[in-house]
Amino acid sequence: MPGSYCARLCNAWSRRLQNYIFIWIILQAVYTKPSMNPGKIQKNKTAILTLAVAIVAAALAAIFLATGPHKTVSTSTPSPEAQSPAAPGASPATEAPTSATPTPTPEAPRLQLQTQPQRSEVKRVILISIDAARAMDVWPLARDGFLKNMGKIAAEGAYGELSPMYPAETSPSHAALLTGAPSGIHGVFSNTLYPKSPFEGGKSEPGYWGRLIAADTIWEAALRKGYRVAISNFIHGYVPTWQARLSDADKNKIVIIYTTKAYKSGTGFAGSQLYSTSGVGTRINYTGGRLYIPIADTVLVGEVNTGAKVLVLYQGNRKIAEVPEGGWASVVVNVTEKGTTYLAAFMVKALSLAPNDVRIYRGNALIYNDPIAWFMGPEVLKRKYWREVVERGYIDVYHGLAGDVGRGWIDLKTYAEIVNYTVDYYWRTNLFVLKNVEFQLMTGYDVTPDPVEHAILGLMDPSMPYSNATLAEWAKRTYLGMWAKIDQWLGEFTKEMNNGDVLIVVGDHGQWGVRGSVAVNTALRRAGLLVTDEKGNPDFSRSVAYYDGAYIFINPKYKADPATYSRVVERVMEVLLSIRDPATGEWPFAIVAARAGQAAGPLAPIYGHDMSVLFLDGPARLQSRIGDIAIAVKPGYCAYDKSATRDNVVNTPIPFIYSVTGCHDGLGSWKELRSIIGIWGKGVEVRQIKGFETYAANVGSTVAALLGLELRNATFTPIWVLK
Ligand SMILES: [Zn+2]
Repeated sequence: MPGSYCARLCNAWSRRLQNYIFIWIILQAVYTKPSMNPGKIQKNKTAILTLAVAIVAAALAAIFLATGPHKTVSTSTPSPEAQSPAAPGASPATEAPTSATPTPTPEAPRLQLQTQPQRSEVKRVILISIDAARAMDVWPLARDGFLKNMGKIAAEGAYGELSPMYPAETSPSHAALLTGAPSGIHGVFSNTLYPKSPFEGGKSEPGYWGRLIAADTIWEAALRKGYRVAISNFIHGYVPTWQARLSDADKNKIVIIYTTKAYKSGTGFAGSQLYSTSGVGTRINYTGGRLYIPIADTVLVGEVNTGAKVLVLYQGNRKIAEVPEGGWASVVVNVTEKGTTYLAAFMVKALSLAPNDVRIYRGNALIYNDPIAWFMGPEVLKRKYWREVVERGYIDVYHGLAGDVGRGWIDLKTYAEIVNYTVDYYWRTNLFVLKNVEFQLMTGYDVTPDPVEHAILGLMDPSMPYSNATLAEWAKRTYLGMWAKIDQWLGEFTKEMNNGDVLIVVGDHGQWGVRGSVAVNTALRRAGLLVTDEKGNPDFSRSVAYYDGAYIFINPKYKADPATYSRVVERVMEVLLSIRDPATGEWPFAIVAARAGQAAGPLAPIYGHDMSVLFLDGPARLQSRIGDIAIAVKPGYCAYDKSATRDNVVNTPIPFIYSVTGCHDGLGSWKELRSIIGIWGKGVEVRQIKGFETYAANVGSTVAALLGLELRNATFTPIWVLK
């Protein structure tokens, strides 16, 4: 039936067009303000052209809005009065849902402008992502002269704020950077992705597995053009997921170094560990100045020189490291586990060498012959990288480090040292790739700010219940020290760039400090919607709803009948709307959104939205990856806690032990969640990129435009970059 097809199609298209029009109007507002001068003519021509496109789009949208059935999309946050659940017996739904199935949508329309190269003299593009770089910190620090190299980018290039899209998480945001498209089109809907519902036996998969990206990436677009590509730890570069996605010919033109999150290699010794004579951590015997450190089935021998306070480590007769008390050393050693020998690199610190209290901390290990590959490229290059970068010190703040503080394995001083070593490691890798790999497109990465903010951002605010002036002072010093180090490396990096290189420095999201950790599953269990076993694990066969990775999934057996499904959605909404922070009485959410057509029950006037406001529309084949209700918390809250058995639904974090003190999730438009964008290189226009001009997806399209790539699924426009 053409009529019903149009009803669905027009509805989806009109919503999408509204989004485009909004973006275009913003762009026009920004670009038509400056007065005409010769240098601006080319840009203004483009502006006129795009304005014409926007007008045509607006006209088409008006036709669709007038003819097709359409649902009002509200982006407002419920007012405090409106947040309380409707009283029992509230007026029934005024509009019955027409369908329980997700609205199928056509493949996204493509904007053709983005395929035009902006300037032919751009020879290489280097995209560096600094995870959780907060615009509200970085640019003021740059302006104050504290971050000189960031300041140089701002002064000599284009800089501003970058808004992540929903949900403002690492994997979806990096997928947007790579594809020029939002979650609905690239298909990475969360850091924890369920390709199949947990109620149907689906298991969550890490969102950073590149094979889950359902759209064309700038990496693949560059390879198709015959370009060479270099990936330095960029999220989604996880090597095993690219083995099947690339042709053999492509594999000769790409180098991937991916060590972030690759350390869980199936070996038992890759994680961090404390060795001590006290029984905390792994107990070691210390007699007559000699101690034995077990790593899997290998035992290292340590000799303590009590006079000089130095620990000397041996494997067999070979001296492998000298570690002064309070100091660090990098160790490269063969470790045997269950008959297999691995070459491993890690850093150790001699926390204490007192005869009655020997404590040695070993950071997480990187393994050369890893069962899970972290390198794709020529073997000779891998060896060079191992020798020049990994052997100088491999440590990664990401892996369980906050927990190491919580367990008492390391103190705050050691934590801060590891933060700085992590920055060194990531940037040494970026610099190694820049200097040693031939490429036209490089994507690089630094994970450090993200885990650091998760651990200590809330501590920086002495008014938080778990902080105080001393902790806040330490946290600020650590945070600023980290940024100073990143900035220093950025300076080293830009020195090695060539004429014709364009550098784009971005982040994937910001963070905010956490007052309350929201355990959504605890609320669902208390309402009788989630049933758990005695260990607290969900029993999906007996449950109605379950929360994970930004979404609440509803048991499919309640979805066969649209009226039943609608009632269940309404019941879950009622539970969500009743959650309050006991400390403030505040509702912790910014938005709770059902699928299209489901905002229909008595509570609909309160929650009112559907998921299309979150850029979750897209090809029907991807819609099964999304749960039934999408949520986003407000600044000050965090919904990472999956536990169904907490004492309270909203809990105060305990730093380094339970929950995080910094969080990012939900709506990337909050100022705290906006990240940075800085574009620098010969020919780059000097200007400030205004807030909301730039979403993560605009970046992918910009890279494509600069290199003249055809990015097949991109739906966001390139940012004007060059003069
Ligand atoms: Zn991130």
